[in-house]
Amino acid sequence: MNRRGKKFWVGFDLGGTKMMATIYDGSFKAQASAKAKTPVNEGPKAVLGRIRETIAEALKEAKVPLRALSGIGVGCPGVLDLDQGVILEAPNLGWRKVPLRALLAGWFHCPVVLANDVDAGTYGEYRFGAGKGARTLVGVFPGTGIGGGCVYEGKLLRGKTGSAMEIGHVPVRENGRLCGCGKRGCLEALAGRLAISAEVAQAAFRGEAPYIAANAGSDLKKMKSGLLAKAIKAGDAAVERIVRDAMRLMGRAIGGVVNLLAPDIVVLGGGLVEAMPRLALEEVRSGLKETAMASLVKQVKVLEAELGDDATTMGAAALAAEGGR
Ligand SMILES: [Zn+2]
Repeated sequence: MNRRGKKFWVGFDLGGTKMMATIYDGSFKAQASAKAKTPVNEGPKAVLGRIRETIAEALKEAKVPLRALSGIGVGCPGVLDLDQGVILEAPNLGWRKVPLRALLAGWFHCPVVLANDVDAGTYGEYRFGAGKGARTLVGVFPGTGIGGGCVYEGKLLRGKTGSAMEIGHVPVRENGRLCGCGKRGCLEALAGRLAISAEVAQAAFRGEAPYIAANAGSDLKKMKSGLLAKAIKAGDAAVERIVRDAMRLMGRAIGGVVNLLAPDIVVLGGGLVEAMPRLALEEVRSGLKETAMASLVKQVKVLEAELGDDATTMGAAALAAEGGR
């Protein structure tokens, strides 16, 4: 294939356990992908090395030479300085003050845009997925934590130097459980997957979740979204109640966001929603109705994300093409 004169973009998803690079052409058709485990235990240098290798591998696989590469977009976890292109702090990666944009630009000789990973995913859904055509799109992605993003009239909402929409840290309970951020009663501390897993483990310990007890014991690491979905299917009523309560609480918090931003679409994604979309959407819609104003409930659609794992890479690549909107 003659690739001369064409544009290509790299979309990169940097996660705490795995990473993925996908090469897109000018119309954002995926050309090739490369995945790797994130070697967090080997230190920050090893993670950087693996990022470089993974992008190089995807470029090779897509047969895209460096001179045909127009830009790289990266969805990153942690606290970012978007203007400087620096990851200020990413506890999952053991990173502090890593100038990722400059490093990548030096290795691959092209412009690089960093974005918060949830923002990149929300932007991906806005451009190519369930959020297409929205004036105000709110994306909520419950996983280990609960991430949020918002696109308003084509542009990601952001703060002065970093990202916005930390819906996981919206307070939902006075004197509630301690959160990873140091505050109490955050949505994430009560309805994130870690909180759900901890409650499910207790239910299993009390003999109320036989499927979980047989398949995971009380090992929190094994209580992934897929296993929770299987337990609910197998009839673990306590697990279903715990997950439903968490999703409804999330819906109530989203209802507060609906009152502030009046979005026309709320997209829900992430592992937990993918594993049990019907249940999650049902409870979020019902929680949202409890807290959002009736006139705003009428104009908002709550939809399941469409792009799965590709939302972040597609969104990051599109942000790179837009020059970091
Ligand atoms: Zn918090």
